[in-house]
Amino acid sequence: MSKKFYIGTVAALALFSTATLAQDEKKPQQVLFTNCNIFDGKADKLANGKNVLVEDNLIKTIGDKTLNANDGATVVECGGRTLMPGLIDMHSHLGLQMPGIAAVENALWEEIAANTVIAAERWLMDGFTTVRDAGGMSGKGVKKLVDRGDLPGPRIYPSGAILSQTSGHADTRTLSARNPLLSGVMDSNIERLDIAHAVDGRDSILAAVRRNLKQGASQIKIMGGGGVATEYDPWHSTGYTIDETRAAVEAAKDYGTYVMSHLNQPVSIQRALEAGVISIEHGFAIDEETIQMLDDKGAYLSTQLTGTSEELFKLPSLTSENRRKLGIARDDMKNYFPLVKKYKPKQVFAIDAVLTTHAQADQQRAHEIWLFGHHFGNLEFLKAATSTAGELLAKTGDLNPYPLGPIGIIEQGAYADLLIVDDNPLEDLSILGANKLWYDAPPRKGVEGIKLIMKDGVIYKNTLK
Ligand SMILES: [Zn+2]
Repeated sequence: MSKKFYIGTVAALALFSTATLAQDEKKPQQVLFTNCNIFDGKADKLANGKNVLVEDNLIKTIGDKTLNANDGATVVECGGRTLMPGLIDMHSHLGLQMPGIAAVENALWEEIAANTVIAAERWLMDGFTTVRDAGGMSGKGVKKLVDRGDLPGPRIYPSGAILSQTSGHADTRTLSARNPLLSGVMDSNIERLDIAHAVDGRDSILAAVRRNLKQGASQIKIMGGGGVATEYDPWHSTGYTIDETRAAVEAAKDYGTYVMSHLNQPVSIQRALEAGVISIEHGFAIDEETIQMLDDKGAYLSTQLTGTSEELFKLPSLTSENRRKLGIARDDMKNYFPLVKKYKPKQVFAIDAVLTTHAQADQQRAHEIWLFGHHFGNLEFLKAATSTAGELLAKTGDLNPYPLGPIGIIEQGAYADLLIVDDNPLEDLSILGANKLWYDAPPRKGVEGIKLIMKDGVIYKNTLK
C-alpha cells in the first residue's frame, strides 16, 4: 500500500465517522406554538387555547397547553392570536408580472426571470405559502431555487407553457409573426421561452403537454375559450375542439395529473367538463345547466373576482380592444353570482394577477381577498384559499411536488405552512390585507395583520418579538 493511499484512506474514514456521528446526533428541529386559537382551514369556529408542535417541515401534534417540545425547541407564543394555514393562490402567473404582452415579448429572459423572483417573494410575504402557477415560465427554474431554500417564495405547482389554439387566448403573436407549425420558424419570444405555445391538433397538443410534463409541470393549463386581456381571441369564441381537449386530458392523465382550462362561455365549459377537465378557470358567463354539470362532475370553480370589479377599467395596460371586450364580458356575467350562491360549487381562491407591475399585483391580491369575502363571506374565502385549494392541489397525484402531507389545513402530518394573524379572520379579513380599494390603494410592503409566516417549517416573517 502506498503511503499516499494510506493517508487518503485514513482521511476518508475519519470524515466518514464524523459524518455518521453528526447524523446520529441530529435531532429534528422543533417549533412549539403555544396558546393559539386555530382556524384549521375548514371549521366555522376557532379552536381556542391550543398548542401546535412542528417538527422539521410537518405538523407533528396538536394539543392543549400541556403539549411540550424537546429541549432546545423554538417556542412561539401566539398569545391568543389566530394560527391558520398559509394562503393558497390557485391561479397565479409569477413569471408574468410585467406590464403588458409587449413588455414580455420585448424582454430578455433574465428580466423575466428576475421579475419572477421578485413576485415569488412578494406573494410569500403577503402570506401566500403556495401558488398554483396557471402558466408562464415559473416553475421550471425559480421553483427549484425556492424549494431548496435559496430564494424566498411560495411552494409552486407549475403548469409550464400555457397551451392555446392558434388565435386562442394564449396566441399572443403579432399578426405578421410566423406560425412555427406551418413555417418551422419561431418569431415569438413568448413561445421561444416556453411561456405559451399556440398548438393545434391532437399530435401537437400531445407533444406540447408532454414537453410541459418533462420540464416539471404538475398540471396542465389550456385555453378553452376567449378572454379579455388579449387581441385575437373573440370573447364569445370556444377554444379547442372536444378531441383536442381530450388529447390534453389524456396526456395529463397518463402522468396521473389533470388539466385546468381558461374559459367563460357555457358551451366551452360543458365541452371541457365532458373531456375530463376538472378545474374551470374563470367561468364568468356560466349558466344554470352548466353549473349543475360542474357540480355533478365534482369539478372546481376557480374564478378571479377582480374580473367583475368596476375598478378593472382603470388597469393602465388595457388596450382599446381589451376595453371593448371587457364591456361585452360584463354583460355576460349577470348570472355568475346568483348561480354560484345557489349551487355552491367547490370554489378555490384565484387571483390571476397578470401583465401588471409588482405594485399593482400587491393591490390586486388585497382587493381579490376583499371581493371574495364581500360576495361569499369570510369562511368561504378562507376555505377556498386553504383546505379546498389543498384538495385540488392533491389531484396532481404522483406528480405532486410536495407529497409528504396535505397543504392548506392544520392537522397532524400536514405541511407546516402557517400564519399567525392578529384577531379572528372569520370576522375580519382586513388582517389578511383585504382592501376594498384596488388601483387607488396606497403602496404597501407585506400585511401588518400577519405577524408570522412559516413555510415548510421555516419562519420567513416574525413581528411578534
Ligand atoms: Zn390567468
